[in-house]
Amino acid sequence: MFGRSQMKFMPPLRQTILVVEDEAAIAETIVYALRTEGFEPLWKTTGHEALAVLGAQPVALVVLDVGLPDMNGFDVCREMQKRGAPPVIFLTARSSEVDKIVGLELGADDYLAKPFSPRELTARVRAVLRRTNGHGTVHSVTPTAGVVWSHDTARCRIGYRAKLLDLTRNEYRLLCALLASPGRVFNRDQLMAAAWDDPGAALDRTVDAHIKTLRAKLREAAPEFDPLVTHRGLGYSLREEA
Ligand code: CA
Repeated sequence: MFGRSQMKFMPPLRQTILVVEDEAAIAETIVYALRTEGFEPLWKTTGHEALAVLGAQPVALVVLDVGLPDMNGFDVCREMQKRGAPPVIFLTARSSEVDKIVGLELGADDYLAKPFSPRELTARVRAVLRRTNGHGTVHSVTPTAGVVWSHDTARCRIGYRAKLLDLTRNEYRLLCALLASPGRVFNRDQLMAAAWDDPGAALDRTVDAHIKTLRAKLREAAPEFDPLVTHRGLGYSLREEA
């Protein structure tokens, strides 16, 4: 049903959380907790392996140990940022590391000092994903050929067919909601709740107006496609086959 390039576009049903931790006992606890909470954990023990994953598949968030065998977590984080990194939660063993995270302004979204409870970790993961609008879609700094959608949640940027879209805040949030569930028909209330802080203050046609401008921007990026589908009397969806 889906071609190779479309597969890249499909957001995973379970958000992938990359766990970079060299201590097996800690990693296993984290992996178990994340899986129980409905995430898809992917465990790597070195910085180089972690960076390879980021280049190869969508990752919604990275749980990153500072003390890794091949490179330190700070350098891994810097490298990841060059590649349009997903949100990062650092795991630290020493308070000096915490100082460094704060002092270096590495762009970490949060950190946890060891030892921590698995429940604390999953709560942080959820909070960071909520804050960063992490919908677990494709991450990439610049949209590349062959990738239909790219989503840099850290920078709130969406690329479509090799073009970076210039979106208003509401257009961005609308598209985030649609991208999270391709094929799903959203009614206006649902889209308004997703994209407006005060949905009650907006009129129905506000959604229609924003879909219209969004559609125009998508057409500008790729005139031959129209990824937004209007379902008369029902709402809108994102075309599954892109
Ligand atoms: Ca370690």
